[in-house]
Amino acid sequence: MVYDPLRAELPQRPQAYPATYWLATAGEPPPDDGALQGDRDVDVAIIGAGYTGLSCAYYLARDYGIHATVLEANGPGWGCSGRNGSFARPAIGRLGYGQWIKRWGVPGARALFAEAHAALNTVRDLIDTGNIACDRQPDGWLKVAHRADKVAGLLADQALLRNVFGYETELLDPAALAKGYFRGGEAPAALRFADAFAMHPLKFNYGLLRMARAAGARVHCQSPVMQWTREAGRHLLKTPGGTVRARQVVIATNGYSTERLHPSLNGRTIPVLSNIVVTRPMTSTEQAESGLLTTDVITDTRAVLNFYRRLPDGRVMLGSRGPIHESEGTLRQDRLLDMIGRKFPALRGITADYCWGGWVALTMDQIPHITRTEDDPTVSYALGYNGSGVAAAPHAGRLLAGQIGGDRAILPAIAGPLPRVPLAAFRRIGQRAAFVWFRLKDGR
Ligand SMILES: Cc1cc2nc3c(=O)[nH]c(=O)nc-3n(C[C@H](O)[C@H](O)[C@H](O)COP(=O)(O)OP(=O)(O)OC[C@H]3O[C@@H](n4cnc5c(N)ncnc54)[C@H](O)[C@@H]3O)c2cc1C
Repeated sequence: MVYDPLRAELPQRPQAYPATYWLATAGEPPPDDGALQGDRDVDVAIIGAGYTGLSCAYYLARDYGIHATVLEANGPGWGCSGRNGSFARPAIGRLGYGQWIKRWGVPGARALFAEAHAALNTVRDLIDTGNIACDRQPDGWLKVAHRADKVAGLLADQALLRNVFGYETELLDPAALAKGYFRGGEAPAALRFADAFAMHPLKFNYGLLRMARAAGARVHCQSPVMQWTREAGRHLLKTPGGTVRARQVVIATNGYSTERLHPSLNGRTIPVLSNIVVTRPMTSTEQAESGLLTTDVITDTRAVLNFYRRLPDGRVMLGSRGPIHESEGTLRQDRLLDMIGRKFPALRGITADYCWGGWVALTMDQIPHITRTEDDPTVSYALGYNGSGVAAAPHAGRLLAGQIGGDRAILPAIAGPLPRVPLAAFRRIGQRAAFVWFRLKDGR
């Protein structure tokens, strides 16, 4: 079946989880409130039980005494929140720091930098407060230059971080990398950030589900919103087992939003597939030769980012972009394994135990939008994390809760409406052209 959120109808029935390494290692999902049965009147309904939706439900209950009802089409964390690379980084969108300054000036960029770090702290707080057992790894993020001509960019980033944000990073040469992190190819230098960490993303999502319910929210999984209509000032969200009549609705469906869910989403995002491979555990020889012992999260300088890490059981995980549609050979397992071999020559020929994909939502301005819809203040959304939502999405849920429950302002850079994609009907053609250009730029 070809699946593309741009063309898909609203989901009509629940789907099973994809066979990810995270699903295989997460244990049983915690109890939820079961599929919705019967009709119900609620103040706030939230569509989607990923990080955005569950965090919003938790903070609404904890901070404002609003007990929201979450409707999830499938199981909790079925979307990106249960299939991602697990890198919690202080990231908001895809733009570089220099581009932040160009767009918002130094004060605006500083505010965004602070917000990105606040997002990481939201995740830290949630894990600590909820005592979430999600295999959190020690802090550390390596941004690796994938070619020698990319080292200058790392140095420029380091200077900008120091001069504009007062933030220190460490530049590592190949000898320092080999000593403390890994021995590999495609790594003439790396910039190390002290703030960022890896964890088990699905266990984290399960933890958020427990917290939201314990605070008083109701979470109905296996309850796809099949139809959304309005009647007498209420939103009617129809699921197979009943209808929720809500005063306010939060859209927390990100890359799994279909264009038909709500008019405010039409032509506003570019859903793009991202793929992940997880290898078999390294042998002791492979382990010794690759020297891959670091628990840091690792990204490279490609326009089409490679993100990778060593997993606690000695496997290697690597992710990058996927095909255009979910049907096109779907998973790029061989290509991802080839990338692992280029980065760690000692691992050439290693086999995969898991490979899967998921839809991320890109936006025209490459930042997420956390806001109320332009024509209806009773509909809110947080969408468009541009592939970096592990920290940004739980934080966005918290910001939306603050806006709904306490009328708190959200930083203007991320509070505007999602911009329209020009010539939206031709998004896929534009995406193909962009991928060709990025590939040429990345040199493979
Ligand atoms: C392969 C991959 C790797 C990634 N790696 C990273 C990473 O390392 N670091 C990082 O920061 N970010 C990463 N991301 C992005 C990050 O995972 C997402 O930005 C984040 O999880 C978004 O969370 P969310 O709750 O907004 O959406 P999701 O987790 O996608 O949840 C949306 C939910 O909405 C539900 N839904 C949709 N339509 C309906 C409906 N009609 N009715 C009811 N429910 C509905 C879906 O079933 C889904 O569960 C990655 C994403 C992918 C795909």
